[in-house]
Amino acid sequence: MNRSKYYTKELPDGYQPAKTVDVGEKRFAILMNLAATLLTAVVGVGGFFLKFAGDPGSAIPDLSNVWLFEGWLFAILVSLIVYLVLHELTHGIVYKILTGEKLTFGLKLSCAFCGVPDVYVTRKTALLALLAPFTVFSVAFLVPFFLLSGSLSFSFLVLFSLHFGGCAGDLYDTFLLLFRLKGNLLMRDTGPRQTFYIRSGD
Ligand SMILES: [Zn+2]
Repeated sequence: MNRSKYYTKELPDGYQPAKTVDVGEKRFAILMNLAATLLTAVVGVGGFFLKFAGDPGSAIPDLSNVWLFEGWLFAILVSLIVYLVLHELTHGIVYKILTGEKLTFGLKLSCAFCGVPDVYVTRKTALLALLAPFTVFSVAFLVPFFLLSGSLSFSFLVLFSLHFGGCAGDLYDTFLLLFRLKGNLLMRDTGPRQTFYIRSGD
């Protein structure tokens, strides 16, 4: 398979770094987590009104005894950990299919990440890898949110909201790729840091 439209191993002549996004930088990590919290709150409240405006009480999980509530919290927590792993794996699967190159995975206090550090990927590859988990898990959480009812539906709203907020970094990179960075572009993704290169003269 000819992968040249997906990535290149060497940075071709004329490409200059135009923008770096790095969650290893404290200021950016704080801003990104603030954006994530805000997105989670807006999506969560919006979804709640959309589905439960008529009967808010039906959303609330059974709180009649403390074990039921703690069991619910525990189930949400386990689901989030599984989700986090699957989210990063989904980035990785797309990078692996399109490049075949070595991946890197990791976890920082501010985020989990997956990158393909030894190559420069094209705009198309970057967008596919960035948007894959956002798309897959939006569908995976929204379908049961709309189909189910009561506290089960509410639980999927909680997961969808946290997922949506958790994609803040992916969505920011996507925004840059679609609307800010014009011309011939390559991206190097080490996981926590994305560097965007633009061919000068374009
Ligand atoms: Zn991601």
